[in-house]
Amino acid sequence: MADPDSRTGASYASPEILDWVASVHAPHDPALARAFATPADMPAIMVGPSEGRLLHLLARLAGARRVVEVGTLAGYSTIHLARALPPDGHLWTVEFEPRHAELARANLAAAGLAERVTVVVGAGTDALPGLEPHGPFDAVFLDADKANYDRYARWAIANLRPGGLVLGDNAYLFGELLDDDERARGMRAFHEIVAAACDSVCIPTPDGLVLGIRR
Ligand code: MG
Repeated sequence: MADPDSRTGASYASPEILDWVASVHAPHDPALARAFATPADMPAIMVGPSEGRLLHLLARLAGARRVVEVGTLAGYSTIHLARALPPDGHLWTVEFEPRHAELARANLAAAGLAERVTVVVGAGTDALPGLEPHGPFDAVFLDADKANYDRYARWAIANLRPGGLVLGDNAYLFGELLDDDERARGMRAFHEIVAAACDSVCIPTPDGLVLGIRR
């Protein structure tokens, strides 16, 4: 059941509740803790612990072996996704900032995932075509520059196997999804592209997480 407030977007979560449920459902993992603790001069904009756990479980449900992530930052979501892969699985993650990519590589090595993950430095639109020979992919997770989400979605649809997952964070665009500007139109196009090619939903995480299963 739900009440009218929660159906229209109100959340019962508090920082204390979020911490408690994460402590129960997300096993302590020193490598994740290390990647979550970004340096002061790096934006702490990675997904939260429960969303990271959700990504991990979705990748496992999909039996993912080959995954692409756009937007590595310090590698926090990368570790969640890579931990879902079988030993012969591989994840390619694209990061625009060389300094962030360097930290992510160190965090992935500390997590024992250096062999299972390739960190590619560059803009998503430049780097993704180079990954195509490794496809088709089982899952693509987008958490990068929002202005290009529509282009990333088209790439994902073209390079996912049927039954593969497209995932997109910040799908409410920080509350600006319905604004009348290019960035919001691009994010709305992302939603529409995913919905046209997938069975899809926008999971009401704090900033929305699109999940699509490629038809
Ligand atoms: Mg995000």
